[in-house]
Amino acid sequence: MKIKKISIFRVIAQLIYLNIFIAGVLSRNYIMLFITATAILLGPIFCGWMCFVGLYQDICRYLGALVKKEPIEINKKIHRWLKYSRYFILIGSLTIGGLFLFPGKAWGNFAAILQGHGKINAAFYFLIILGFASLFTRRFFCRYLCTFGAKLGLFALARPITINKKDTCVSCKCCSKECLMNINVDKINSLANPNCINCLKCVEACPNNSLKIGLRNYFKP
Ligand code: SF4
Ligand code: SF4
Ligand code: SF4
Repeated sequence: MKIKKISIFRVIAQLIYLNIFIAGVLSRNYIMLFITATAILLGPIFCGWMCFVGLYQDICRYLGALVKKEPIEINKKIHRWLKYSRYFILIGSLTIGGLFLFPGKAWGNFAAILQGHGKINAAFYFLIILGFASLFTRRFFCRYLCTFGAKLGLFALARPITINKKDTCVSCKCCSKECLMNINVDKINSLANPNCINCLKCVEACPNNSLKIGLRNYFKP
């Protein structure tokens, strides 16, 4: 698997954030404020560049790519419906609390384990299973299960800064093929998809430099 420049910076950012988090979570409130503010303005930067559960899935996939280069992709028709699952889980967790909370809790429980005061519980085993799944799939947990990512996606719905496509696009679909969240990037003009995790894989993959970060065009999505 070819690792390009943006991906290298992204992994570095993920590792730096992991260190900040493990280093004691100096002020969780400030970190949450930062994550939310960046999501509102720029989209879920946290998901693409900081989250260690995201990093965990990426690393598993890099390892899996040594054995199986092409990831397993869920059928597009099924994905079209399944991509809403994390929002349903979020609504479920907020309404009939607890019943669907397990996947959303995994992130927090994993953080607790890293900080040394979490007990090894079902969520930990869930992450082990996710590790195996992530060997052959890309960001399965982010795409379909993570309620925190769903919340950030909703915060980012009106993001003023996004990825825009230029007229030089030749519809080669390289961007969509590389998208970790299975978004049809080649079909957008100005990205508004709440599932985008701001990984910039699409920008990196475009052979034409047709994708640029800039002000969103709300009238031509
Ligand atoms: S969707 Fe969830 S697990 Fe994935 S990167 Fe975002 S917060 Fe982390
Ligand atoms: S649209 Fe681009 S930035 Fe967003 S998730 Fe897909 S590849 Fe990453
Ligand atoms: S990779 Fe670039 S040129 Fe190809 S479809 Fe995407 S934006 Fe257009």
